[in-house]
Amino acid sequence: MPRPADPRQWSEQSQAAVAASFRTHYSDKAYRCRYCSKDALFSAAEQKIVYEVKKAHIGVQRVLCGACWRDGHVVEQKIADCEARWAESKQVLAHDAAFLSAWHALLLLHQRYGARANSAAKNMLRKLLNRIVGEDVHIE
Ligand SMILES: [Zn+2]
Repeated sequence: MPRPADPRQWSEQSQAAVAASFRTHYSDKAYRCRYCSKDALFSAAEQKIVYEVKKAHIGVQRVLCGACWRDGHVVEQKIADCEARWAESKQVLAHDAAFLSAWHALLLLHQRYGARANSAAKNMLRKLLNRIVGEDVHIE
């Protein structure tokens, strides 16, 4: 069901966008989830909340279905946990291959959910993991 749009409620950036003056209504938008390829709907009612209450930029579109968005959010939380643990005990974790590879895998998974690549973190983890492999070889 279409909903009336109230561009006065948008963020300033959204109001500055060309679309603002033309937008009188939101209408349901069908899309395909980028992760699981299921058909999904960005409803007019949801758009009204996203743009007018949450003040997201008017150009922002949904790319994940609801289930994948929640899963992606869980991955994000786990990455935040890794970062917190890392900040607390770098010295120990720098030698913990299981921790480092789990963190690396989470970063790759997060990217598949549409997150921007965190190249700095991935490079650091790869270097640390290579060093551990080198240490193992040395021990043998
Ligand atoms: Zn999905």
